[in-house]
Amino acid sequence: ETPDVRQYQERLAAEGIDVVRVTYPDLIGTDRARDVLLDQLPTACEHGLAFCRAVYHTSPQGDVVPVTGGLDAGLPDITVRPDLDTLAALPWEPGVAVCLGDAIDPATGAPAPESPRDLLRSVLARCAEQGLRPVAGPELEYFLCEEDPGSPNGWKRYSAATGAVYTAGLRADPDNHLLRTLRGLRDLGIGVTNGNHEFDGGQFEINLTHSEAMSAADRAFRFKAAVKELARKEGRLATFMAKPFNDAGGSGFHLHLSCEDEHGRNAFDDPAGAHGLSATARHALAGILAHAPALAALANPTVNSYKRFGPDTLAPWLIDWGLDNRSAMVRIPPERGSGARLELRLGDASANPYLLLSGTIAAALLGVRAAEEPPAPLEGYGYDTARASVLPTSLSAALDALEADTALAEVIGKDFTTSYLSYKRNEVERFQRHVTDWEFTEYAYHL
Ligand code: GLU
Ligand code: MG
Ligand code: MG
Repeated sequence: ETPDVRQYQERLAAEGIDVVRVTYPDLIGTDRARDVLLDQLPTACEHGLAFCRAVYHTSPQGDVVPVTGGLDAGLPDITVRPDLDTLAALPWEPGVAVCLGDAIDPATGAPAPESPRDLLRSVLARCAEQGLRPVAGPELEYFLCEEDPGSPNGWKRYSAATGAVYTAGLRADPDNHLLRTLRGLRDLGIGVTNGNHEFDGGQFEINLTHSEAMSAADRAFRFKAAVKELARKEGRLATFMAKPFNDAGGSGFHLHLSCEDEHGRNAFDDPAGAHGLSATARHALAGILAHAPALAALANPTVNSYKRFGPDTLAPWLIDWGLDNRSAMVRIPPERGSGARLELRLGDASANPYLLLSGTIAAALLGVRAAEEPPAPLEGYGYDTARASVLPTSLSAALDALEADTALAEVIGKDFTTSYLSYKRNEVERFQRHVTDWEFTEYAYHL
């Protein structure tokens, strides 16, 4: 099946690689890996690697979370096939190369229905039917934390240095975390353009180059794992949680999106169109706005995600759009021509890149198919409920919106949607039963 696996093997051996870490992005975007000795690579490619299907996540309470086809089926395997085209030497672990894998259902030999990479592949195939090739540019924010035995969760934000503000540079990063991270990501071949200190102390943003959507998702997935790995090597924790601290803003996963037509031209650009945008761009934008409540279930996938939304946060709160307006959910950056694009500011950093891209592109495609028109753009500073409706305020509400959005479910697949809803509703139920510190402080003394 893979006649050239020997060639890859020889090339890797010549580069001094003796282990291939095959990584499977699971439903929630965690990197699940098996380390394969180089001489076993042909066998791994021929037969695939077995990963237990159900154990996507174990809670601190030790619960194994059931997923359709998982616990109820007796914890069967999924098979992961290495995608050798994604091989890359891991710069900070000599002798190791990483490689993405695709999840196959061993019973049928077909892609596993809940496999995020295959989900995106199928959504992109639908776009190709319309002659469209989505192009994406991810921007991710995260917090860097340091151990703090005095704090209840064991961590505090890095850099209490004064002047730790937006694009503050070295004075907010005295230990040069950002420089080391940027260089590591470059050497891994992630394709990063630049990074900066973000608004809050210990918060950083790194931007990825734009590219065809699958490569963008693959790179964003690897980016998150690599940033965490590099931080861990320094004894620190990098977190892509949406809103890890009460006294700081959240971390976004902004997604720049455009589309190439059959001739490789930017299908979002039209100098003669309203605001210099094409009908395709307007329809795509309208689709994203129309499906935003359901899209939130994928773009904002944790109970914590909904604590990031709010007025005056630079995170969205309302379902709206504007021309170069950062207070709107969708911003149209000022560039036109090959740079004409939209920036979806909805997603938070905890989103699985494959699901964020799949959901966004599916919503845009529905808008294009139905030739939907967006409302008038937001003028001035947003966050006015008289002008637009509010995003879902909880994961539970977003999951209900996803279940109700049968058009979106049709594009992303019913099997996927069912698996995802079952997994995420379990998370909501566990959270709702859990007694938090806030409740104790709020009630214990007075009641
Ligand atoms: N941190 C903000 C968010 O959660 C974004 C800030 C920015 O515009 O870079 O989306
Ligand atoms: Mg930012
Ligand atoms: Mg941005």
